[in-house]
Amino acid sequence: MTGTLAPAKQLTATDRCDRCGAQAYIRATLPVGGELLFCAHHGRQHVTVLRDRGADIQDESARLSDTPSTARDNER
Ligand SMILES: [Zn+2]
Repeated sequence: MTGTLAPAKQLTATDRCDRCGAQAYIRATLPVGGELLFCAHHGRQHVTVLRDRGADIQDESARLSDTPSTARDNER
């Protein structure tokens, strides 16, 4: 399963942080299956540990700071 680039679903406003219920911007997909969602704040607290455990981290916290003038440049 490692090394493959699965088509990640973009996080939406309905995705909520598992810790505090705020909008989630970081998704951690666990190697054993399952996934965790974190807001930017809690994501920074847990991402390092999860990554050490082999979780795949999808970090969309950059969207927090996007502005109308540059938002389109980040599309891919
Ligand atoms: Zn949170």
